[in-house]
Amino acid sequence: MSKKEELSDKEWKKKLSKEEYRLLREKGTEKAFSGEYWDSTDEGTYTCAACGQPLFSSETKFKSGTGWPSFTDPIDIKNIVLKEDVGFFTKRTEVLCSNCQSHLGHLFNDGPKPAKTRYCINSGALKLKKKK
Ligand SMILES: [Zn+2]
Repeated sequence: MSKKEELSDKEWKKKLSKEEYRLLREKGTEKAFSGEYWDSTDEGTYTCAACGQPLFSSETKFKSGTGWPSFTDPIDIKNIVLKEDVGFFTKRTEVLCSNCQSHLGHLFNDGPKPAKTRYCINSGALKLKKKK
């Protein structure tokens, strides 16, 4: 595992594409059904696009119909950070990478039973390492 990523904004801008920077570092949200992975059924491990930390497995990915990759569970709860994201009219739970603090998406409670958790993650925040 790489050491904790602590880059300046300038360094992140150099390392990431424009769209990745917007999603990961400025808490952007990609357009529904626009990302690379929303309907992907390839097997493998989804890692953080910014630092490469393993985040989600294809085994917990499910079709949510929302247009974003959706997972019931992270690979390891220690690999993510959950943060209250309080807006004007909304209260959501933000999902961050625990290694580099990049924004990944949000956690909702409308997933499949029994746990009902749905990690709604931007495709652009993920990189799939396919199973060989
Ligand atoms: Zn990361």
